[in-house]
Amino acid sequence: MSSHERAPFDPAQYDPETVAVRAGIERSQFGEHGEAMFLTSSFVFDTAAEAAARFSGNAPGNVYARFTNPTVTMFQDRLAALEGAEACIATSSGMSAILSTLMALLKSGDHIIASRGIFGSTQQLFATYFEKFGVSTTLVEATNIEAYRAAVQPNTKLFFIETPSNPLTEVIDIAAVAEVAHAAGALLAVDNCFCSPALQKPIELGADIVIHSATKYLDGQGRVLGGAVCGRKAEMDEVLRFLRTAGPTLSPFNAWVILKGLETLSIRMQAQSANALELARWLEAQPWVARVFYPGLPSHPQHEIAMRQQKTGGAVVAFEVKGGREEAWKLIDATRMLSITANLGDTKTTITHPATTTHGRISQEARDASGIRDSLIRLAVGLESVEDMKRDLCRWLES
Ligand SMILES: *Cc1c(COP(=O)(O)O)cnc(C)c1O
Repeated sequence: MSSHERAPFDPAQYDPETVAVRAGIERSQFGEHGEAMFLTSSFVFDTAAEAAARFSGNAPGNVYARFTNPTVTMFQDRLAALEGAEACIATSSGMSAILSTLMALLKSGDHIIASRGIFGSTQQLFATYFEKFGVSTTLVEATNIEAYRAAVQPNTKLFFIETPSNPLTEVIDIAAVAEVAHAAGALLAVDNCFCSPALQKPIELGADIVIHSATKYLDGQGRVLGGAVCGRKAEMDEVLRFLRTAGPTLSPFNAWVILKGLETLSIRMQAQSANALELARWLEAQPWVARVFYPGLPSHPQHEIAMRQQKTGGAVVAFEVKGGREEAWKLIDATRMLSITANLGDTKTTITHPATTTHGRISQEARDASGIRDSLIRLAVGLESVEDMKRDLCRWLES
């Protein structure tokens, strides 16, 4: 190394905000400052022998973009550094991250224990498709650690939780569930979509695997679909083997967009959380609000756990309006600025009626059991002025 050559960036020596901007950069011979987008499906070799060595895995380097591409690798390395994971594998969506993890690590006859509030499509994936191929799932009350212990079977291989949950923002003690999972000889996977590594680092709390829908806060601007799985190298190699064989790979274009999203992740999460806290406090004081669900409020049942394992309460606030579906829909329909959509994790604030949209496909019975009432409204708070959000939420009172 000449005296002018700089040592590569070592994430272990820097704070998360710096890691989010600088980790994983791999420069081409042109010395570009911005991360390059490698829109190529395959890679060329100098000789047949080199091709053979790369295909067999005996020589490092890219072969085909179904399994590796330099832009995707940059995103993977940066997210792994942010989560404090040995490795990360990017996927085409959050759902394909979950699918790939289960396909790689489970087999017919295995059993999953999952928290009741997990994402609707995740529940469908477990109950419909994995069940069909002989992998059973037990759903347990999310915040009851004894319920996880009681659900353990000799064939339990995976615990799967999501915290805070959607839409009720229930907070699960990750360290406590990790202890139960490890005592049962199982792995703990945490869907870290709602917090992102800017607010919560499940691996430090004992989780083995972290799942992301990069579609949400990692991109943060509602532009592309993407997903990722983080964890130990041995297990991520298995996930990569599945990707290489089955193909739910992240495109280099989407990887590039999300890589740029990571650079502003920390400041977005801080600002959106601050907006959410202000809005949650205000909602709690409104006479037309029956109840507010936000981990950053002292009234939240798991406020203490949330403040221990998250940096903030996050950017999702749910509340029950006094009345039922009619009042909830009236409030939503009177808004002019907030986006009526089921997505979240965007700089634009979104407003959703979970009982008739995201949770509309599950039975009334299951909805009642999970506490998702017809009067419930979910806000995924963005970066607009909080005063404008409040005005929009009050318009229905004038009509
Ligand atoms: C959106 C979401 C998913 C699925 O992600 P996609 O990128 O839409 O496939 C998984 N888990 C949670 C918590 C989500 O919010």
